[in-house]
Amino acid sequence: MLEGLAQLLELQRLDDELAAFEKEHAGLPARRETVEQRRSEAEAELGRAAEALTAAELGMRQAETALQDNEAELVRLENQQFQVKSNDVYSALLREIEAAKNTISEAETGILESMDAIEAAAAARSTAEGVSKEASAALDTEIASIDDREKELREKIEQHGAGRLELVPKVAPELLKHYERISKRRSPAVVLVSIELCGGCRVGIPAQDFIEIQRGERVVTCGNCKRILLHQAKVETAEAL
Ligand SMILES: [Zn+2]
Repeated sequence: MLEGLAQLLELQRLDDELAAFEKEHAGLPARRETVEQRRSEAEAELGRAAEALTAAELGMRQAETALQDNEAELVRLENQQFQVKSNDVYSALLREIEAAKNTISEAETGILESMDAIEAAAAARSTAEGVSKEASAALDTEIASIDDREKELREKIEQHGAGRLELVPKVAPELLKHYERISKRRSPAVVLVSIELCGGCRVGIPAQDFIEIQRGERVVTCGNCKRILLHQAKVETAEAL
């Protein structure tokens, strides 16, 4: 009888798990990258809010400067009124005074608008700060959990590798050779059968092959999908030993 039927199934179980662990492990850098991407987005949002506040503050300073300049200009123009001799020059002066007053009025409106803009931008920045802080803490937690999982996966991969090394010598070399070859293309590579039907592809098993499977003396593979066929009862007996 072929040695290691039960061990072969155990090997297959280990290999399946190992493949899943390795796949998850390989996906961890992408998960970390996604988290860092979200961190950068929160920081960029905060940066934009801070820039908007700076721009609003600059608008305020410009309006204040315009107000001061035009108030000084108005005083200068009004003083000239008493020195003017001709009507034409006087009319021109009045127009200049009117223009300065308009500019002053616009600057005053600009200051009020800037005050509103600064208030809104400061509130937006404060909100963005809160969001960024909260996001950062949540992302730190997420990174820590990815780190933990990585450690866990490395241990599992190591344990499974060791378990594999223990099982391999217990499986008949002929069986192992078939398994190593088929498992590269098919999962599962080994199926248990109890009737004349392949458990992998559901195609019927020829009577002669089925007798060989029941004997368990040589490796029998499915004529259709090439999976290794083991008899259920034979494996159960081997497990009990
Ligand atoms: Zn098959």
